[in-house]
Formats: sequence, structure tokens, C-alpha cells
Amino acid sequence: MAVPAVAKHPGPGRAPNQPAHCGICKSELEGQEFHRHEGREERGSYCSPGCLSAAEALVALQLWSVKLDSTGRRAEAESRTTLADDLLVLWRKHTGPDPEGVNAAVELARSRSETN
Ligand SMILES: [Zn+2]
Repeated sequence: MAVPAVAKHPGPGRAPNQPAHCGICKSELEGQEFHRHEGREERGSYCSPGCLSAAEALVALQLWSVKLDSTGRRAEAESRTTLADDLLVLWRKHTGPDPEGVNAAVELARSRSETN
């Protein structure tokens, strides 16, 4: 493999000409990007609607975990965090359950546990 004659300048942050990477699967973002927003803030860029849904499902799990933790349900909170970690590993490889299905299941389970 040939070594490029001109070395890239190492430096902090992302060079403007460097491609962004998907927040889930880490593939390079070329052209179309999908963004996740919280209020007016942009919280990430994703390569596909599937990766965007995956990110939303992971955030939903994390929020649920925080909520459980704050009410003293540590074991349940930890199992949500572990599930989120496992799902991220699967979704990074474009395998595992359908993110939208997981998202819907999380929302349903959360609303049920909150009305208890
Ligand atoms: Zn992706």
C-alpha cells in the first residue's frame, strides 16, 4: 500500500473535509443524513432511518433506566442499560430486532410501569 505523500494535519476536532460517521453503525455519511433532534438541538447524524430509529430506541431505554434508578429500582435500571448496550452491538452490525419495534415496545412498557 502506498503512503500518501502529503500527511494529513493531525489536530483536535473534526476537519471540515472529513466525512461524518453514523452514530450507530459508524459508516461514513455521504450525501443523505438523518438527524435526531431534542427540542431545537441536534443530537446526532445517522446514515439511514433504521439507524435513526435505533438511536431513538437507545435513548428511550436510557431515559427509562434513569427514571427507574431515581426511584430506587436499581436492578431494573441496570437491565435496561445492559439491554441498550447489547442492542447497540447488534444494530451496529445491522442485525438484531427491528429498532422501530423496540422503540414502540419501550414506550409501551414505560407508560405501563409509570401508571402502576
Ligand atoms: Zn448507520
